[in-house]
Amino acid sequence: MRFGLGVLNVIKVICFANEIIIFARYILMNEEDIMLAYTYIEHGKFELQEKARPEIKDSWDAIVRVTLGSICTSDLHIKHGSVPRAVPGITVGHEMVGVVEQVGADVTLVKPGDRVTVNVETFCGECFFCKHGYVNNCTDPNGGWALGCRIDGGQAEYVRVPYADQGLNRIPDTVSDEQALFVGDVLATGFWAARISEITEEDTVLIIGAGPTGICTLLCVMLKKPKRIIICEKSPERIRFVREYYPDVLVTEPENCKEFVLKNSDHGGADVVLEVAGSDDSFHLAWNCARPNAIVTIVALYDKPQLLPLPDMYGKNLIFKTGGVDGCDCAKILALIEEGKIDITPLITHRFPLNEIEEAYRIFENKLGGVIKVAIYK
Ligand SMILES: [Zn+2]
Ligand SMILES: [Zn+2]
Repeated sequence: MRFGLGVLNVIKVICFANEIIIFARYILMNEEDIMLAYTYIEHGKFELQEKARPEIKDSWDAIVRVTLGSICTSDLHIKHGSVPRAVPGITVGHEMVGVVEQVGADVTLVKPGDRVTVNVETFCGECFFCKHGYVNNCTDPNGGWALGCRIDGGQAEYVRVPYADQGLNRIPDTVSDEQALFVGDVLATGFWAARISEITEEDTVLIIGAGPTGICTLLCVMLKKPKRIIICEKSPERIRFVREYYPDVLVTEPENCKEFVLKNSDHGGADVVLEVAGSDDSFHLAWNCARPNAIVTIVALYDKPQLLPLPDMYGKNLIFKTGGVDGCDCAKILALIEEGKIDITPLITHRFPLNEIEEAYRIFENKLGGVIKVAIYK
C-alpha cells in the first residue's frame, strides 16, 4: 500500500515537472515559433489554440506552410467521436495545400518554395501495399490516415508531413491553390471510386449522394464518358447545384430512384452504382437499383454495420467493391486539373480566415447557406 502511494507520488511529481517544462518552453518561444492550430480537445469539442510550430522530426519529413485548407466530413466524425483512433490534443484537418518551408535530409522530390498538395494518407512507398498502389493500406506504423487524426494536421498555419516524397505533389504553376485544394482527399476519393468501378462508354452509372464526395465522384466518373449518369439526392439545394453545373446529368430523388433508373437504363438497372451517401436507405438503394451482374462500389463511410440480404439478391450476381480513399493518383489528378478536365472550384461555396474557423465549422456542420465545401485561408 505504502509502496503504491509512493509510486503514485513519484508519477505526480514527474507529470508536474513535465508540465513546467512545457510551460517554460512556451514562455521562452519566440513569437514566430507560435502558430494557430484548430485542435481536438475532447468528444464534441474543437478549439483554436496557440501551439509551437512543427519541426522536422526525421529525415523524410517536410514542413509545409498551409496556404489553404478545408473541412471534411471526417473532421466532423472525429468531433462526434466516431473515429476512436483520433488522438485528443492533435491539430485536425487533412485536406490542404501549401508551400514547402523546410525538408529533411532524405527528401528529394520537393524543395523549399514548392507549392504542393498534401495527401490525406501517410505512406512509405516501400511496403507490399504501397508498391501495388494500395497506399491506404501501407503497413508503416504511421501509414494510412494519420494527419489530423493521429498526428497534427493542417487546420493550422504549418504542418509536418512525414514521408514528404510520397505525401506531397507539386502543383503546376497554372493551377491555383483553390483548384488543387481537394486533390489529396475528397477528389482522390472520387478518382479512386471511379477507377475501381470499371465504367465503360455504354454504361448507365448511378451515383447516390451529391455531397462533396458525391460531386467529386461525379467529376471523375464524367472522365470515363459513360452513356448516362444519374444522381440520386434528396436535398433540394444540392439538386439545384447539380442541375446548374452539370446539366447533362439526370437527377432523381431517393423515393423515385428505382423507378427512374429502370426507365433510364438499358438493361433493367444501373450498370454501375457508386454509393456515396452512407445511410441504411442508400445502401439498400445501391444494390436494389443495380442490374444483374452490375458493379456496386461503396464509397460511403457508414455509422453502423449494414445488412446484406443475400436471399433477396440471389441470382443477381452483383460485384461489390468497397472503396475508401486510396490517394495513389494525386499527380495524375493534378495533371487533369492542369488540362482543364477536372474543375472543383464550384464546390468551394464559402471562404473563411483561419481565425474564424469556428464559424466555418458551424456553417459546414449545419449545412447552412447552401454550403458544399469551405476553404480556410491564412
Ligand atoms: Zn477527409
Ligand atoms: Zn507502405
